[in-house]
Amino acid sequence: MSLLNVRNLSKRFGGNAAVDDISFDLKAGELLALIGPNGAGKSTTFNMVGGQLPASAGSILFDGRELLGVPSHRIAHMGVGRTFQIAATFASLTVLENVQMALLSHHRKIFSFWRAAAHRFRDEALDLLRQVNMQDQASRPCSELAYGDVKRVELAMSLAGRPRLLLMDEPTAGMAPAERNGLVALVKDLVIQKNMAVLFTEHSMDVVFAYADRIIVLARGRLIAQGSAEEVRAHPQVQAVYFGT
Ligand code: ADP
Ligand code: MG
Repeated sequence: MSLLNVRNLSKRFGGNAAVDDISFDLKAGELLALIGPNGAGKSTTFNMVGGQLPASAGSILFDGRELLGVPSHRIAHMGVGRTFQIAATFASLTVLENVQMALLSHHRKIFSFWRAAAHRFRDEALDLLRQVNMQDQASRPCSELAYGDVKRVELAMSLAGRPRLLLMDEPTAGMAPAERNGLVALVKDLVIQKNMAVLFTEHSMDVVFAYADRIIVLARGRLIAQGSAEEVRAHPQVQAVYFGT
């Protein structure tokens, strides 16, 4: 039984089909990579699943419930989390405070006197930081962190919403190769530990082939291949469109 069922999903911008009749499934405990050249429709797909963008046609079932037409904040509360390409942390707050803020937001607490309210979430926030190996840096302001560590804090913040499905659009953008491997390895561990589903995009094929359980390939809005690393790598259309061979 799949957690996410995307069926015949399309998005048109004017006459241009950014996403053209794609269908795929995602199970709990699965790390699914969405790959394809720039402009293939990856971010558009993320934005439709997350509710940031209305679809032109199709269906997105999450745990059997239709997501199309549901506002993004309701989708988040249904258990669909996401990380964004642009850093979403508050630079002047500490690592711990950022995660406390995410927990407050998830529990819909009022923001006045937030430091007092946040105290109730201190242990939970520290536990989330432990899960992303950032507990040692809890009291540092985010402005002092290395870029790769900011990404880990963002991951802890998205875990604060207890997502059953996490959408990660280019989570390793701007990171050095070693950091990329580290972050995706961490995500893979979390997928297994939490039986969480993750849909992610990643430019490094080495990282995708090393960690993804399954891969789907988009080109010009169309889904041209899906399967294991071996299956996708051997696909003639992928060779032609994606690797330019
Ligand atoms: P990817 O994330 O795979 O690089 P996108 O989903 O961002 O691709 O874009 C897919 C296509 O849709 C591109 O041709 C892009 O120019 C177009 N597109 C994306 N967003 C918009 C928009 N808001 N208005 C018009 N065209 C868009
Ligand atoms: Mg994109």
